[in-house]
Amino acid sequence: MKEKGTISIHTENIFPIIKKFLYSDHEIFLRELVSNAVDATQKLKRLSSLGEFQEELGNNAIEISVDKKKKTITVRDKGIGMTAEEIKKYINQIAFSGAAEFVEKFKDSGDAKEIIGKFGLGFYSSFMVSSKVEITSKSYLKGSKAAHWVCDGDTEFEISSSKRTKRGTDVVLHLNEDSEEFLEESRIQGILDKYAKFLPVTIKFGKKDKSVEDGKDKDGNPKYKTIKVDNIINETEPIWIKSPSDLKDEDYLKFYRELYPFSEDPQFWIHLNVDYPFNLTGVLYFPRLKSDFEVPKNKIQLYSRQVFITDEVKDIVPEFLMLLHGVIDSPDIPLNVSRSFLQSDSNVKKINAYITKKVADKLGELFKKDRKAYEGKWSNIGLFVKYGMLTDEKFYDKAKDFALLKNTEEAHFTLDEYREKVSVNQKDKDDNVVFLYTTDSAKQDTFIQSAKKKSYDILVMTEVIDSHWINHIEPKLEKTQLKRVDADTIDKIIDTGSANESVLSEEEQTQLKEVFTKAIDNPSLVIQVESMAPDEMPVSITLPEFMRRMKDMAATGGGGMPFMGQMPDTYNVAVNANHAISTKILAAKRKDTRIKFAKQAYDLALLSQNMLDGASLTKFIERSVELASK
Ligand code: ADP
Repeated sequence: MKEKGTISIHTENIFPIIKKFLYSDHEIFLRELVSNAVDATQKLKRLSSLGEFQEELGNNAIEISVDKKKKTITVRDKGIGMTAEEIKKYINQIAFSGAAEFVEKFKDSGDAKEIIGKFGLGFYSSFMVSSKVEITSKSYLKGSKAAHWVCDGDTEFEISSSKRTKRGTDVVLHLNEDSEEFLEESRIQGILDKYAKFLPVTIKFGKKDKSVEDGKDKDGNPKYKTIKVDNIINETEPIWIKSPSDLKDEDYLKFYRELYPFSEDPQFWIHLNVDYPFNLTGVLYFPRLKSDFEVPKNKIQLYSRQVFITDEVKDIVPEFLMLLHGVIDSPDIPLNVSRSFLQSDSNVKKINAYITKKVADKLGELFKKDRKAYEGKWSNIGLFVKYGMLTDEKFYDKAKDFALLKNTEEAHFTLDEYREKVSVNQKDKDDNVVFLYTTDSAKQDTFIQSAKKKSYDILVMTEVIDSHWINHIEPKLEKTQLKRVDADTIDKIIDTGSANESVLSEEEQTQLKEVFTKAIDNPSLVIQVESMAPDEMPVSITLPEFMRRMKDMAATGGGGMPFMGQMPDTYNVAVNANHAISTKILAAKRKDTRIKFAKQAYDLALLSQNMLDGASLTKFIERSVELASK
């Protein structure tokens, strides 16, 4: 019996379109064929467990083989198989019409290539690499006849009976000239490693060498020999489908090392497992981050029923979670749709929210369970938590209870704890609690020491993300302001309304200001005489908090104020009226002596802010030497 037929839809146009779109992604044909073989095998297993199939299942491994002489690749399964009628129905009609519809729908959209390339076209994709495809199949149903189908890639096909006696399906691809790369074993191995590593049915690809013990030599040392064993590609039960209660830490670590062989071990992980209202399993790992700048390059891998789909999970996983590693498996993520659709898909949104919640819960749990250990990890997870708080309001609501602040004494506090701690000593006249922070404790040391004299506490905010984070949390904290420790002079940084007495008269203060205005000779600076404690710096230079934040934001690309980067700094210069130098300046008879002392005091202020260099630094050194040798 031989039957010829025509595939009943307009497929003539498919080939040029597919070839064009899929040029760079031909390799997915193998994923598609292996997935079909897995499905067919799983279906049979299900029928067997339902009692619909009574024979022995036996060894169900799917075998992939390459014949270099015949230039063929064969994918063989022992699944449910198909009768001739089923081939006509599923392959000719469903598979081809599916592909045709798909191409029709996406041929004009800009991301067609990406979509088709990533998610494939099922059985039809085999024609990307083949000039001819054959199927021999025998259904699991008792008494069914085996069938043989051939198609050379246009709308004509041929179907006949086959002598095949064993249940299952062989798909044989006769590779076209452009696709001979797929005859290389290493190429096939690479594709299988990428897509098939965790498929639920054993995938076999030829043989490989294995070294085994072979008795002992005369000294009693073990001898080895090399034998050929089946080359098994996959682990059929990856940890993410197992129950967390059956797994030990070592299992999670082992899996991580398998996924990311060259990475340091992760800090901890979250096992995701939900089956309502959508299906999702997975394990997400928190990697060790070295700094803000070292964005982890290992990506989260997305699977659909254990088939690798992609590691571009941008639209599926909340952005801040992209710092994590691991695996997400969900058959409910719509794969063959465009990216813009994905973002508005309600399942994707739910998945996003679920993952975010799980991650927040895990962090909260770690924090509660062992605070010391959590604090130890903070330097590593802080970036992640802060990033999450910045970008996701729901995450913020949970994270505000386990986000930590660290002070210069290396002590950690939650936001609430910290506000409580400083609420008495660091309250200004308007009842605002002021959090002081440093972005560089070495450079801002003079200011830190002044603040410490007042028993103020200082937070360490040295990460790049901190400037954004501060802006974000400040309005959310009740009556709280954050100020960098050098944003103002120590008496004004937390303005309690009480002023120091000045040892100078009004007139002397005006004189002092005149001297400094001449000495500094820079009209863009705001010079003020203030009555500070006598043991404070004679002159301080400060950059108001607001101005500095604007500049910081501009510098790190946030805030959308590019022009801020070019704005001149509007520093404030505060002269301490109560310092001995001020008295000395006014007491000096000669005008140039006054100027010299004022310059010296101003340079010291510049020096403490790391702003003295070049010719000014040289002059300062010369002047210092001169003054010291007098
Ligand atoms: P999909 O897998 O998305 O359904 P395909 O075009 O890959 O689309 O396959 C179409 C149909 O052909 C499948 O749904 C299945 O019924 C049948 N099929 C394909 N490959 C096999 C196989 N190896 N064994 C049994 N049936 C198969």
